[in-house]
Amino acid sequence: MGRAKSLPPTAGLTATAIRIPESAQLNLAYPASPQLFVHEGARQSLERRLNMASAGVPVALSISDNTAAMISHRYEGGILRVRLHHMFLDAPGEVQLALARYILRDDREASELLSRYIGSNGHRVMRRSRHIKLNPRGKHHDLFEIFQELNERYFDSEVDALVTWGKRSHSKLPVRQTIKLGSYSAAERLIRIHPVLDKGWVPRYFVASILHHEMLHHAIPETRESEGRAQLHPPEFRAREREFRNFERSLAWERGHIRRLLQAR
Ligand SMILES: [Zn+2]
Repeated sequence: MGRAKSLPPTAGLTATAIRIPESAQLNLAYPASPQLFVHEGARQSLERRLNMASAGVPVALSISDNTAAMISHRYEGGILRVRLHHMFLDAPGEVQLALARYILRDDREASELLSRYIGSNGHRVMRRSRHIKLNPRGKHHDLFEIFQELNERYFDSEVDALVTWGKRSHSKLPVRQTIKLGSYSAAERLIRIHPVLDKGWVPRYFVASILHHEMLHHAIPETRESEGRAQLHPPEFRAREREFRNFERSLAWERGHIRRLLQAR
């Protein structure tokens, strides 16, 4: 490995802040996020790409969920430490190459391309309010554990959404007419599961089926038909939904227990 010629004279801190378009600028505090799932293969492959472009300077790549530093880097002990928002992990090749040009050579064109990419991925920037407390571990079912199993089995561990039990309503409401067992907010990148499912009489596979459905909403963005109508469950969605091992069994369980779910508190 040759000596680095491109090392700056001051090998101290050289954090770079790229201009982030208005739409992606979110003034939020991010709590440490132990639930950021980073696809290790994708991280390694991008790290390799940066290493190939860095003229012998070893590059170490870490991934964050932090919008304050979408792209930052500093030299430390002869190593170029790069930290990137997770949206770059599955960025197209040209965007990843632009990253290398931007970080290593401060290339202006590359910077513009990156700004556009960040802008068009604004929906992936987590807008989680600092007040939402995640509560994935229920009394009977651990959503985090189920999520990880589903992620490995059906999604190549690539779903990096967050998951939580929804809030219980304490008031004495009349019996529900309908119930939304799960929801996915793309803006918050957050899956909420209705707390009535955190019961001993609700089988784990049923909770998993609801979670699986919401994970598909994260994995398959809604499509727009020609008239501009949103299609929440396009055919690909329905096909992948059926891949879930207990799909039919879950539907049958739901039919048999819908009354109990509507009454449950
Ligand atoms: Zn749905």
